Amino acid sequence: MPVATISAAELLAPRVMELGPAAKIDTGSAHWRLARDAQDVAWLVLDRAGESANTLSEAVMAELDTLLGKIEAMKPKGLVIRSAKKGGFIAGADIRDFAGVGDAAEVEKRMTRAHAVVDRLAALPMPTLAVVHGHCLGGGLELALACKHRIAIDGASFGFPEVLLGLHPGLGGTFRLPALIDPLEAMTMMLTGKTAHTKRAKALGLIDALVEERHVKNAVAAAMTGKLAEPRGSWKSGVLGFSLTREFAARKMRAEVAKRAPEAHYPAPYRLIDLWEKHSGNAKAMQKAEIKSFAALLTGETAQNLIRVFFLREGLKAQGKGDSGIAHVHVIGAGTMGGDIAAWCAARGLKVTLTDIDTEAIARAIGRAAAFYDKRLYTGIARRDALDRLVADFSGDGAAHADLVIEAVAENADIKRKVYKAIAPRMKAGALLATNTSSIPLEQLRRSVPFPERLFGLHFFNPITRMELVEVVGHGKVADATLARARAFCGAIDRLPAPVKSAPGFLVNRVLTPYLLEALVMQDQGIDKETIDQAAVDFGMPMGPIELADRVGLDICLEVARMLKSSLKTPMPDIPEWLEKMVADGRTGRKAGKGLYEYDETGAAKKKTDALTPHASLSDRLILPLLNACVACLREGIVADEATLDAAVIFGTGFAPFRGGPLHYARSRGVDEVVAQLRRLQEKHGDRFAADAGWAQLGKVS
Ligand code: NAD
Repeated sequence: MPVATISAAELLAPRVMELGPAAKIDTGSAHWRLARDAQDVAWLVLDRAGESANTLSEAVMAELDTLLGKIEAMKPKGLVIRSAKKGGFIAGADIRDFAGVGDAAEVEKRMTRAHAVVDRLAALPMPTLAVVHGHCLGGGLELALACKHRIAIDGASFGFPEVLLGLHPGLGGTFRLPALIDPLEAMTMMLTGKTAHTKRAKALGLIDALVEERHVKNAVAAAMTGKLAEPRGSWKSGVLGFSLTREFAARKMRAEVAKRAPEAHYPAPYRLIDLWEKHSGNAKAMQKAEIKSFAALLTGETAQNLIRVFFLREGLKAQGKGDSGIAHVHVIGAGTMGGDIAAWCAARGLKVTLTDIDTEAIARAIGRAAAFYDKRLYTGIARRDALDRLVADFSGDGAAHADLVIEAVAENADIKRKVYKAIAPRMKAGALLATNTSSIPLEQLRRSVPFPERLFGLHFFNPITRMELVEVVGHGKVADATLARARAFCGAIDRLPAPVKSAPGFLVNRVLTPYLLEALVMQDQGIDKETIDQAAVDFGMPMGPIELADRVGLDICLEVARMLKSSLKTPMPDIPEWLEKMVADGRTGRKAGKGLYEYDETGAAKKKTDALTPHASLSDRLILPLLNACVACLREGIVADEATLDAAVIFGTGFAPFRGGPLHYARSRGVDEVVAQLRRLQEKHGDRFAADAGWAQLGKVS
């Protein structure tokens, strides 16, 4: 076997670690490096070729198999597995391999081959150790679990996010994790997809030790000389070995999962509980069942749609790449939106000055930011630094130094124009000006800006902390370079930019309004609001339209609906008079404690309704107007393509992710069928259901 001496830096490049002289074994591997150090320990380093992060592909697993054969022959004193990527250990399976697969038997074959490789690693007779930095997720965690020991470097995180893709772990995680740690904690991790950071991972027993990079060598030596005790699993495994106890625990888990995800829409967590209930404690049986169940899920509609959504998200993310050149943001208007935009930007590392005509609004916004940082930022230093970056700017002087000014004052074109007139001469050369307007076309606003090429819309959604989407609104006079910087700014603050054209309501409000108004018409016709909401939830929306209207604010809904009705030719439901009165009386929704529902600290006071099927017929009345508006937006070129539209509607409204997006849903259901159903609804309820002309085009392309 040819052996060459290489340095540790070469072995782990680009990571830097002091290993001492190591002998590199020339393996002909594209993705792995194998070396043997002076202490006779073999080092297997994953550095997936041509990728910035490590993921497990079929090629990576096949090479690992060959290398394990070499290690078996080498008989080193021990084996260490590491990653050469700066960002982390292994981020999971390569999801590209999962897209579009439809043959469950073929998946079973592939998974069985991959399991054999992981089993081979687990069966090595010498001490084996995964040294983990950064992300250790999904298949990466399954590899680490097949080692006898795991040590983590500060900042590492462990988890099984498969459930978010409509799957459960498929490479042995379903039996190796519950065998290592408290099985109930293991199930919670797999059922929720939540990651455990180092301290939590240590408390769970997922890792043997937490070390700093400079102490890795000592930890490896300890593992090789038996000084790291082999994990013995949790005492709870014994108790849960009794089928009655397990049945009881499984029932509780199912009830817990049912609160978040109905089985008909999200089967994966239920299949995982079935596996555990039936086979827990019997690794071989569990392994067989895991492979079968994983293959069935992966080839099912939910997982394939969620995988589609994963790539839609990646598509938006990719639009946010590049350098925005924005380090200082000045926010005008410290209300609901401006305050939160400022807090979010400061949390993401930008300098922010926040101003308002109402000084108390600034103080309130800073107070809200501090509470948010307490909850969401993990260390005291991070909280202090974020608060330091967020500056209350009572004089408004920050505008002169900012690279980007975001205007978030009241939704009134005159007020906004006045703000621009005052601010434009004070802004530094080349700085950008963005408006957070939810509905005013940019053409109406740009008149008062001497540099329309640097004016654009940045439409954030409420609450900013949870809504990832930002509509980046262009218009005829904006420069392409401005829009590119705007998208990169979204990327830099970890939000997803969706480029849209300036048009009434842009994309998201345009498609949501007919849906919300139809719900109000239904309520007017005497249908219980709880029933209406349940119909939408049964379809897969995160909350019903009535609750959503309260959440957005009835005053804002009313404003947007009036604007859309006056500026679009499309027939839309009338705005009920009682809604205008409610808003005039201050019943504006959740923020006022009363709107269409009454609110207390636990949420909306609702009557009980039955779940699922009884409301299925109502859901078309709500969802089809939304689909119709999506088709109109595509036809009018408000978004460039179907993928951007589907992505924006999912991330801007929460549109049932397991359906893969509104247009994807329409296509899966059948364009002709949807149009026929619109016709039936039109006959029964009127022209607001008239199918948009764009359907004909959609029906042609697939
Ligand atoms: P808000 O009423 O909570 O806050 C507006 C703030 O602007 C107030 O604090 C007010 O004092 C301040 N203000 C008014 N005139 C000003 C001026 N001339 N100079 C400086 N400050 C001034 O409103 P909001 O809900 O935060 O909405 C702000 C903008 O964001 C609007 O354009 C709205 O359409 C848009 N928006 C709102 C939401 C939402 O859900 N609330 C969502 C997306 C976009």
